[in-house]
Amino acid sequence: MTFADRAPLYTAKDRHENLANHMFKQGHDGGPGSAQTLTECSGCDKRASADKSMIEQQMTDAHPKLTLLLASPRGFCAGVDRAIQIVELALAKYGAPVYVRHEIVHNRYVVEGLEAKGAIFVEELDEVPADAPVIFSAHGVPKSVPAAAQSRKLFYLDATCPLVSKVHVEAERLHAQGREIILIGHDGHPEVIGTMGQLPEGAVTLIETVEDARAFTPRDDKKISFITQTTLSVDDTAEIVGVLRARFPDISAPRKEDICYATTNRQDAVKAIAPRADAVLVIGAPNSSNSMRLVEVAERAGCRYAALVQRAADIDWEALGTPATLGLTAGASAPDVLIDEVIAALRERFEVSVEEVMVSAESVQFKLPRALMDEAR
Ligand code: SF4
Repeated sequence: MTFADRAPLYTAKDRHENLANHMFKQGHDGGPGSAQTLTECSGCDKRASADKSMIEQQMTDAHPKLTLLLASPRGFCAGVDRAIQIVELALAKYGAPVYVRHEIVHNRYVVEGLEAKGAIFVEELDEVPADAPVIFSAHGVPKSVPAAAQSRKLFYLDATCPLVSKVHVEAERLHAQGREIILIGHDGHPEVIGTMGQLPEGAVTLIETVEDARAFTPRDDKKISFITQTTLSVDDTAEIVGVLRARFPDISAPRKEDICYATTNRQDAVKAIAPRADAVLVIGAPNSSNSMRLVEVAERAGCRYAALVQRAADIDWEALGTPATLGLTAGASAPDVLIDEVIAALRERFEVSVEEVMVSAESVQFKLPRALMDEAR
């Protein structure tokens, strides 16, 4: 089951070509290659040149050529796909309404689509009635949230991405070993709130910047470990880790990288397209950490113009100008339907040729919660 229903794209270029071919078939002129004046087409009431080459010339004049470098991978990751499936399957199994604590993923289009199917999004558990199922978002929640749900005897499903849960388990393991934990991440992001909330207050110190890393004073520099948010800039994080390692040679790192495969792959793909592009568009939400990082990666690669757009209507055409080459990608919570929409909008203004630039193939899938396995079959 997938979230997005993809409509085939009927493009401006298709329309021009169809009109030209239609004119030839209808015999409005003396045949291919003949010079003709404008004539009226009785079949489609459009005034058009019967000379196909003239139409193609007009198309070229009207639509500047654009090479579209499509980053791959882009868009939905396995954790987002799983979280959306959990809401859809819960609606199918338990009926509407199903409550969701916090935006299930950071994308308004996805959230509004699920609302239309009967999901109700709330910020806190006390907004959930006793007899309704509630789902926790992909970003993860502090331990206090499932504890509160249990004490109210609420039925809940946890859509936390397994790669975020892995960081939670790591934090608990390190804490049990008596180690002081540094979390590299962004203050206030739901994932950071969830990860810090796995341990008692004060057990985790948040570090956001290189300056924070320089200023940090540990209780015992022989017993510190770092973990990270899953959706950070790979390069920024490496810089922060470099400072920590230089200051505290005994600091321990996660057994396996915390920045997830989807974040890393999408950043690598932008690094591959950005140096070749005059501009880069990133489809995603302003509160989506991994999407914002993609804009930064494009800017650092020297792109004249890199912008985040939630959908086609957000594109600032004036600022974009007429690039010869445009890079396009999407954050891990942006559905394919929005990528198609942006490509369709570009085709309205440019003669687009698409080149997909693939840096890695993804085949990651996560298991669904047991309670929904039957529904998924
Ligand atoms: S971006 Fe990474 S951590 Fe976040 S939901 Fe996707 S796979 Fe999981």
